[in-house]
Amino acid sequence: MRLSKYFLPVLKENPKEAQILSHRLMLRAGMIQQSSAGIYSWLPLGLKVLSKIEKIVREEQDKAGALEIKMPTIQPAEIWKESGRYNDYGLEMLRIKDRHDRAMLYGPTNEEQVTDICRAHVKSYRALPLNLYHIQWKFRDEVRPRFGVMRGREFLMKDAYSFDFDEKTARAAYNKMFVSYLKTFARMGLTAIPMEADTGPIGGDMSHEFIILADTGESGVYFHKDWLKTDLVTDIDYSADLEPIINKFTKIYARTDEKHDPINCPIEKKDLIEGRGVEVGHIFYFGTKYSKSMGASVSGPDGKPIDLHMGSYGIGVSRLVGGIIEASHDNKGIIWPEEVSPFDVAIINLKSGNQMVDDLSEKLYQLGLSNKHDCLFDDSNYSAGEKLATMDLIGIPWQLVIGPKGLKRNIIELKNRKSGRVTEITPEQAMKFVSSQGSLSLPQPDEFKGQ
Ligand code: ATP
Ligand code: MG
Repeated sequence: MRLSKYFLPVLKENPKEAQILSHRLMLRAGMIQQSSAGIYSWLPLGLKVLSKIEKIVREEQDKAGALEIKMPTIQPAEIWKESGRYNDYGLEMLRIKDRHDRAMLYGPTNEEQVTDICRAHVKSYRALPLNLYHIQWKFRDEVRPRFGVMRGREFLMKDAYSFDFDEKTARAAYNKMFVSYLKTFARMGLTAIPMEADTGPIGGDMSHEFIILADTGESGVYFHKDWLKTDLVTDIDYSADLEPIINKFTKIYARTDEKHDPINCPIEKKDLIEGRGVEVGHIFYFGTKYSKSMGASVSGPDGKPIDLHMGSYGIGVSRLVGGIIEASHDNKGIIWPEEVSPFDVAIINLKSGNQMVDDLSEKLYQLGLSNKHDCLFDDSNYSAGEKLATMDLIGIPWQLVIGPKGLKRNIIELKNRKSGRVTEITPEQAMKFVSSQGSLSLPQPDEFKGQ
């Protein structure tokens, strides 16, 4: 993408309405635009990140055996009356009347809708286990929408729902989602800590929240330092018995503010980390709560009807955009983990109009594109200082800086946003860098020999 053809409305001033850093940075980086309280338009840069997060979530759900569907945003009130939640949900639910005066609502979640699908089509225990998910906008009329996309009123959620015919298989479904969540967040460069949680209005008897660490998070968290070694999760195979694996993870002490007991805490002080975090996922096992009230049963092995055992599994896809920024930034701006970054590499032409610089920048851009790297090419006429500041603000992980002074010495600067390290490389090495297959990495030291 050429910056001259892009829509990147960056702000120089700090927007006053934003109380927290991720909200400020998302507005400054031209990622979102507020429509009304807690409701946002996603501009090109923001949408790109949102889509990358969505893609990772989708891939990991698919790998865990969940099947993607798409349920509507608008639901009929009847099914919520059947489950008994229509009144319970209170003012958070946006209630709508259609032209026939029928009661509808903008879905805050989808347990009822998915149970309605299942009871219509799943008649035998042989069709189980089943896990259906969708990635869809939700609406909750939050009392205090704030912190930008972190606590919006309209937000994008991945919600999955598992159906099983007994508690044992339902727990296996829960465990699978538990592991898939650890894998999902690890791919985004995040350490997510599962915490035992209350089940709240969804009800049920087993629940975990997944919290990512960020100094500005809403929840206080206490956890064993071993939690910071969760790179182990990526290797877990779904065909393995997950119960002992889950036990290993859940036995490591991790508690939120409300649940932490400083007097009886089993962790030695030296191993206990106190921090703050953002809830990015929440999973529940609630047994037959909805299937009983909504009449969702299947015939079991002996032909008798069995109420379905269900679980639900949410990930705050749009909240993650803000959450990742809270977890990864510095005073210059956002530092995107490579997997969710809107662009892989920025190619910064410091002096548009200088033939030599123009030619080489253009060449690097074309090479990068033809090797399937998502390149943002700054071919604009802004000052060198502004160009560098913008790329740091929007957090592009790799930046190639091409200017007339460097080129006189046959030098291009390659900057890594995360480490801040600047490496001087030759134009040939830069070409090699953007031509590499797969993810980008610093040219190896031996490639510098003889330079
Ligand atoms: P919270 O405790 O933060 O209000 P919740 O328990 O109401 O969240 P769930 O019903 O568990 O949320 O929803 C699943 C996920 O959806 C949450 O873990 C969170 O990441 C996300 N989410 C919930 N509410 C919002 C919101 N208002 N804005 C953005 N994301 C949200
Ligand atoms: Mg919650």
